[in-house]
Amino acid sequence: MTVWVPLIEIDTVSNDAARNKFKSYLGTKGLRVTNQRLAIFEAAFGQSEHYTAEELLEFARAIDDSVSRATVYRTLPIMVESALLREVDIGKNLKYYLPNVEGGTEVAQVICLDCDHIFEIEAPFMEWYGNSVASKVNQRAVSQRLQVSSRCNKLREAGVCERHSA
Ligand SMILES: [Zn+2]
Repeated sequence: MTVWVPLIEIDTVSNDAARNKFKSYLGTKGLRVTNQRLAIFEAAFGQSEHYTAEELLEFARAIDDSVSRATVYRTLPIMVESALLREVDIGKNLKYYLPNVEGGTEVAQVICLDCDHIFEIEAPFMEWYGNSVASKVNQRAVSQRLQVSSRCNKLREAGVCERHSA
């Protein structure tokens, strides 16, 4: 039996901290804090599911309809670079994004190849594991990640899965 751990909730306090980090990071890049960029931030952090750049554009436009595609595509790498967002490359030329919550290095990703769904599973053993393999070559782990590709049991058994979009 498989138990799915729900996606990690992002509380508003950490959202405030992330927003401040975003603003100061824009500053270091010589970029102004504009309503469009803030709308992209709010859209990016208001999601509990992973999203593509195009989906983020839709979410951001729902907040501020003057957000342009170009601004989304320019802002995304900045948010990834500043570790506010994580980028998950699932192949097929598809990249997904999600807020980088604290302790994000202790999260394993299980990617369903059938349904293109990404599950974020809390994996508190990861830091220990990273340190134990790194110490074998006299190193100290700084970060680690685990990405598991999977097949959907539900789809195989029942023929349908609510996450499967044909
Ligand atoms: Zn499925």
